[in-house]
Order: sequence, then structure tokens, then C-alpha cells
Amino acid sequence: MARAYSLTDSPWENEGHGTLQISVPKEDSEWPRVWRDTIAALGYPVSENPFFGRYYGAVMTPESVQPTSKQRNFVGSAYLGTARSRTNLTIWTQALVDKVVFDASIRDKDGDILATGVQYTKNGETGIVHARKEVILSAGTFHSPKILELSGIGDADLLRSLGIDVVIDNPHVGENLQTHTYCTMAFEVRDQEGFQTMDGLIRQDPSAIKAAMESYRKQQEGPLTKSGLNATAQLPLPSYLMSSEGKSELDRIFKQSCERAEPGKTTAAFAKAHEKFVHSVMSSPTEASALYYSFPGFVMLEGEGGMADMPPGSKNWFTAATLLAYPVSRGSTHITSASSSSPGLAIDPKYLSHPFDLEILARHVQQLETIFKTETLAIHIVRDGKRLPPTNSLSNLDEARELVRHKAVGAHRHSGTCSMMPRKLGGVVDEKLRVYGCKNLRVCDFSIAPLMTRCNPQATVYGIAEHGTHNIKSSS
Ligand SMILES: Cc1cc2nc3c(=O)[nH]c(=O)nc-3n(C[C@H](O)[C@H](O)[C@H](O)COP(=O)(O)OP(=O)(O)OC[C@H]3O[C@@H](n4cnc5c(N)ncnc54)[C@H](O)[C@@H]3O)c2cc1C
Repeated sequence: MARAYSLTDSPWENEGHGTLQISVPKEDSEWPRVWRDTIAALGYPVSENPFFGRYYGAVMTPESVQPTSKQRNFVGSAYLGTARSRTNLTIWTQALVDKVVFDASIRDKDGDILATGVQYTKNGETGIVHARKEVILSAGTFHSPKILELSGIGDADLLRSLGIDVVIDNPHVGENLQTHTYCTMAFEVRDQEGFQTMDGLIRQDPSAIKAAMESYRKQQEGPLTKSGLNATAQLPLPSYLMSSEGKSELDRIFKQSCERAEPGKTTAAFAKAHEKFVHSVMSSPTEASALYYSFPGFVMLEGEGGMADMPPGSKNWFTAATLLAYPVSRGSTHITSASSSSPGLAIDPKYLSHPFDLEILARHVQQLETIFKTETLAIHIVRDGKRLPPTNSLSNLDEARELVRHKAVGAHRHSGTCSMMPRKLGGVVDEKLRVYGCKNLRVCDFSIAPLMTRCNPQATVYGIAEHGTHNIKSSS
């Protein structure tokens, strides 16, 4: 990650040395301070530096925004801009890879097959790009396993049922799908000087849009320079669960949950290792088991992950969410047809299918409500005002569970479907990102992460790209 990033804002001069410049947004309202004060009032630390190495407590999360121009920084501007003039780089847009092609007649000493290129479709025409050395797939958590399966790498039974020749039988392709599951709460807040929210922009109020555009154009300031989701926290389970009685209770819930969990296609060894790791995090008073976001305004996802409508009226809102950092539930994504142009992908996220996830998220939802009830934040909330979802107090754990069952959604950050781990545990790629059974085919994207990252995955995705680049260069 340090190879990818540069954080140049004062006071953390020169964190990282990469081309992707990131920055911490200017605070132009009191809300970030209120958030930090509230997390501190609950007994958690507040970090000024997001790179201090231990991510626990309240922190201001940097964004991929160039610190002076305030323009978004992304792989196109940070990497491609300088590389696109190279004579050995050709970029085709509007071209979709259908599958990887192989020379079935060549096997190496380990019996591995050789990838010779990719078949693609562009403007309705199909062609082949030949690979002199290797093929690297970076199509993301849903499309990298899709391309592997269309190429004949996956569960032999599934492939045969779709009429695809089996090149490598690996039932773990497309399995181990994970993401953060989360719940959101929003409360109406009082109108006060210095406590402006982003609700005007969310309502698409023309005067709010005009003011934001002017502020951005003239001073590179204001709401268009940031997401508004920077005041975050990484928190362990509530402190009552960290006492010896609380830990016994947690152990009991963990044991019962694991006994009730459905194994699915995951190997027993990985399922056990996964549960053991998650349990170790949950039992620690300083390891965060949930990520908390705050937002000055109304923002809520619902149902399949679409944005909920802004409530009617002109009131301002404050929203916060809690995301299960390490879910133990695992879903899957698989092709439903041998045709690459068919939209058919059977995605089964299986959110909360492991009972432990429901138990942990319910307790974090209770902690989220405690945050809203803490005086430093509560004094800004409209007395007897609206809250969404419209629930009563969640001090009763059954009500918290009910809220999770009905309102939890999956965050847009899936991983795990081409996991990097030993093959016997259920891996698809090795530590150099090479597909088991085909050494000159790599997968280099977030699908290789076998466990969900504790926080936003973007930094890890850039880290994976740097790791992949390093391996490719050192093997050439
Ligand atoms: C709405 C949304 C908001 C998000 N917000 C955040 C955030 O605030 N912070 C954060 O850290 N993360 C966020 N994420 C998650 C983050 O974007 C992903 O984790 C990250 O982009 C994954 O990177 P990747 O390289 O694995 O895949 P991708 O970024 O999905 O890249 C895969 C690429 O492959 C291309 N592709 C797919 N199939 C083919 C094919 N057959 N042929 C050719 N090309 C193909 C796709 O078009 C795409 O460009 C968000 C995701 C979404 C969807």
C-alpha cells in the first residue's frame, strides 16, 4: 500500500511514496468533532493519524482526492496517465474478454496447462489476443470467476452441466463470497450555526447545488471535495462483553452458532480457521469487529442495496452505520450459461447465513444506538424527532436482532471468489496470484482476498495490484 499511496497533507507529511495522492478533507462543520468527542466519551481512543498502525477508535479516513486541485484520484489518473505512452502498452475499450484459451497439448513437469491468450468480443466481432508470457485477469470479484468458469476452470459438475469442457477442476472458483453486512440509523437534527449538513445536496435543492459548485470552482472547497463519510470509527464489541462473564457468554454464542452453521462448499479446514480468526477478533477489547461511519445528512441503503428515498420535509439529518468487519457468512457466484454474453450469473450472497454474524451485528447495532444517545451527540438531535428505521429503543437484544434481520444490507465491496490460499484449504490462486493448475494465468483483483478487509477495501486493492506487479516483474 505504501508503494501505491502518497498522503501529503500536513501534519502527516509524506506518508507512503506512491503516485496515488490521497488527502484528508477539510472540516467545514462541527460534525466530525462531535463524532470524535462521542467516540471518546464511550472510552475509545481518538487517532489524529490514520496511518498510526493500529486502527482502533475514532479516525478521519482519507480519500482519493488530490490535495490541492481537489480532483478525484484514481487508477486512470495516477497510473495510466504516465504509462499510456509506452510502446508496449495497448488499451482497448469496449472489448469484453469471453474466456482464456489454452494449448491442451502442452503440460509442464507438474502437469499444469499453458494459457496461450484470451478470446474477446469487440463491436460484435470475436478475436483472440495471443499471450507471449502470461495472462492476467483483473475483472473483479464477480467477473474474474465468471471468466475462469467460462474457460473451463471451476467445479467440474457445474461446467459439464453447462456443456463446458473441464480444463481444471476446482470447486472453489466462485465460492467464499464475502462482504460487510451493515445497518444504518438516521435521526433528525437541530438547525444550528456551524452544523450544516449535506441534506440540501441530497434533496437536489438547486440553491444548495449552486453554492456547492461555486465553492468548488472558486476555492476548491465545500461538499463537492469529499464524500462526507470521513468521520469513522473502528470499534470492538461493547465493553460488557469484554468482562470475564461477557467473554463466557460470547464463547457460548460462538459455539452454538458454529454448530448451527451450514458448511456449504467451504473446506472444513478453512471454515474452522475462519471461525477461529473471527472469534479471536471478537474476544479482543482492542481489535475492531465493526466499522462505524457517520454522515452529516441522510444516506441509507435498503433492500438490494439501492438508496432509500430522502424522507419528505425540510429537516436535516445525521446518519451513522455499523458494518460487520469480519463476516463468517460466505456466499457464491457462478455462471448459469456457457455464453459470455448471457447476463446469467447466479449470485447468492448468503448474508447473515452464519448465525454468529447476526449475533455480533445485533450487538453492534445496540452500540450504534448508544452512540446516538451519548450526550455529546444527543444534544444535537431533535427531541421527539423522527428516527429511521422507525424503531423503539434497541436495549432489548431481540429487537436489535429483528432490526438486523429486516434492515441489514450488503456493502458494495465483495471479495473472496478466487481466494489466495493453499489449494487444499479451498484456494484458487497461490501467493503469487497464479491459478492452481495453470502457472501462466494470474488473477489480480479483490477476488483473491480470502477474508474481508476490516475497513474500506480500496487501499488493499491497490496493495494487491502492487503485489501482483512485483510478482509479474520478478518472474519475467
Ligand atoms: C457503488 C460502489 C461504491 C464503492 N465505494 C467504495 C468506497 O468508498 N471505498 C472503498 O474502499 N471501496 C468502495 N467500493 C468497492 C471498490 O470499488 C471495490 O472493492 C474495488 O473496485 C474492487 O477492485 P477490483 O479491481 O477487484 O474490481 P473492479 O474495480 O470491479 O474492476 C474490474 C474491472 O474489470 C472490468 N471487467 C469485468 N468483466 C470484464 C470482461 N469480461 N472483460 C473486460 N473487462 C471486464 C470491469 O469493467 C472493471 O473495470 C465501492 C463499490 C461500489 C460498487
